[in-house]
Amino acid sequence: MAEQVVADLRERCATPVSLLRDVAVEMADEMRAGLEKEGGSRVKMLLSYVDKLPTGREEGLFYGLDLGGTNFRVLKVQLGGNDQRIANRESRAVAIPPHLMSGSSSELFGFIASELAKFVADENKGNSFSSGKKRELGFTFSFPVRQHSIASGTLVKWTKAFCIEDAVGEDVVVKLQTAMKKQGVDIHVAALINDAVGTLAGARYYDEDVIAGVIFGTGTNAAYVEKANAIPKWEGDLPESGDMVINMEWGNFYSCHLPVTEYDQALDKESLNPGEQIYEKLTSGMYLGEIVRRVLLKLSVQTAIFGEIDHTKLKTHFHLRTPHTSAMHHDETPDLKIVEEKLEETLGISGTSLETRKMVVEIIDIIARRAARLAAAGLAGILKKLGRDGSIDKRRSVLVIDGGLFEHYAKFSKCLETTLSELVGEELSKSVVVKHADEGPGIGAALIAASHSQYRNVEGN
Ligand code: BGC
Ligand code: MG
Repeated sequence: MAEQVVADLRERCATPVSLLRDVAVEMADEMRAGLEKEGGSRVKMLLSYVDKLPTGREEGLFYGLDLGGTNFRVLKVQLGGNDQRIANRESRAVAIPPHLMSGSSSELFGFIASELAKFVADENKGNSFSSGKKRELGFTFSFPVRQHSIASGTLVKWTKAFCIEDAVGEDVVVKLQTAMKKQGVDIHVAALINDAVGTLAGARYYDEDVIAGVIFGTGTNAAYVEKANAIPKWEGDLPESGDMVINMEWGNFYSCHLPVTEYDQALDKESLNPGEQIYEKLTSGMYLGEIVRRVLLKLSVQTAIFGEIDHTKLKTHFHLRTPHTSAMHHDETPDLKIVEEKLEETLGISGTSLETRKMVVEIIDIIARRAARLAAAGLAGILKKLGRDGSIDKRRSVLVIDGGLFEHYAKFSKCLETTLSELVGEELSKSVVVKHADEGPGIGAALIAASHSQYRNVEGN
């Protein structure tokens, strides 16, 4: 009986290469459709208004704010130009109180502004480095935003664990700037960017061959450099560089080829955003543990495998987190001691047999591998769209990935990389490089603030 549940899961989550190739082709098709016209695809392909990426010559003192996952970060960098690059940096991470994720926008932005105010005040005390010029900031806001310029944009919808109705359709820079004013913080928001865009920018600073920034963290997304003349929906003048960074918002990708199970359907239905972000719900950190919890719950209710247990924890949504399943997945002790501990600590399941623990690990493996393989298919889709899948452009293509899932879940990142090599083929796997981001998106935002600064000449002096 328990074996049957697992066998069904294995079958429904299968991701043979043929399926992944279909997904890659569809991702590339959706990208084209989304560039064609507003609303042309579920994959929104949002214009970022970033038409020049960092060169390394940026100079000056810049601030960054990074909002989007479970932590919120404030940072400050001193950019030293070509020789020095990042001459100095300081940052502070603060956990976002969960109630602020579903309260009002003035509370959320008030909190952000007050943290920024504290950071600035502390810095003025120590006075480690400062400048007499008008201070500027890059705001990383990791949700879908329809931008109107480099430093303005309205929120399309919330994703992940955020749900603050009154902010939808509003300009988030105006919200931030207003909240900052109330706190007496005199800093100008010079750039509003998505974390995928920030990851791309932070990586371009060091490596010109970077073509895309990708996030596998709490949520997922990708941004890449597109030719402005390949964006039919772009109505403005062509930028001087000829390029435009696109914030794909690929988390909302959907295809009938996606191996969606009953567990995923139930998760989606009971989520904050039913019917939305289906690809994200299969591939990102917020959801992997939750899918596993749902499978374990079914096992426990339908079979005697965990014995007589109190189901309270096992029934609590999001109680099993991806860091827990990751720890179990990487358990190398011969009798799966870590699995035993985690099951007990987090779910109140004790006295399991080794065989049962092996089954739990297999379930986790099925869900994590499906995620990693679908993630690789998404990347293959970008390469295909750009003709960098070996068909046209044979230059070195670097895909830079950031986010806790990629960074901390080794079996996920390993599987993503091997699957991508499998998809692009042996010859190409030398020129297609997957790298973990050296810099978080916040530095990327500060760099974009610098290159789009209104107050200083960044290209040198
Ligand atoms: C958001 C994206 C973001 C991604 C990673 C998704 O839920 O829609 O804007 O880039 O999460 O943080
Ligand atoms: Mg990192």
